[in-house]
Amino acid sequence: TAEEVGGGLRAARLTVLAGPTAVGKGTVSADVRHRYPQVWLSVSATTRAPRPGEVDGVHYHFVDEAEFDRMAAAGELLEWAVVHGRHRYGTPRRPVEEVLAQGRPALLEIDLQGARQVRATMPGARFVFLAPPSWEELVRRLVGRGTEDEAERERRLATARTELEAEQEFDVTVVNADVRQAGDDLVSSMGLRPLPATDG
Ligand code: 5GP
Repeated sequence: TAEEVGGGLRAARLTVLAGPTAVGKGTVSADVRHRYPQVWLSVSATTRAPRPGEVDGVHYHFVDEAEFDRMAAAGELLEWAVVHGRHRYGTPRRPVEEVLAQGRPALLEIDLQGARQVRATMPGARFVFLAPPSWEELVRRLVGRGTEDEAERERRLATARTELEAEQEFDVTVVNADVRQAGDDLVSSMGLRPLPATDG
């Protein structure tokens, strides 16, 4: 089929989840990782410091500026971006290629700038926009998370306002009103069968 040409079929197993800051991309992708172990979730490299509870190699590969420079210069990153005007985040290329070669569905949870880079280099990928139920709810989540100071919150809100307008660039929108529902909708959009609903 046309999809098989040029590795398109493999790229079709790649899904990029992006959306505005604080919409819950991390929470939804963590939920999918737990409930859908067949989905491989990329671990990004970042120059930011770990938050309490974050484990190196699990949540991120925490690297210093010099190591990030080296990875970027060596072409080891599929995409990378400065997020919120501060730290650098990037997707290690090799693990993604290996997983796609195995035919396993792969998920990248990255920011909008990164998603645009992946669209340029992996045109067969699927792009899912995670949207908040409303702008008010997005602001509430950003303030409620309490992990950023005032200036950082303002920076992230400004970014989020612009990012909401990017929805039209995406193949699919998943609304994150409920984490499990959003996770199920995400895996459905990846062509996987969602788990049956449970009471738990
Ligand atoms: P946080 O610092 O809260 O973990 O993440 C901040 C932002 O960085 C989130 O919007 C997240 O999607 C984005 N991000 C995480 N990993 C990557 C990556 O590998 N590449 C890009 N472009 N953005 C990333």
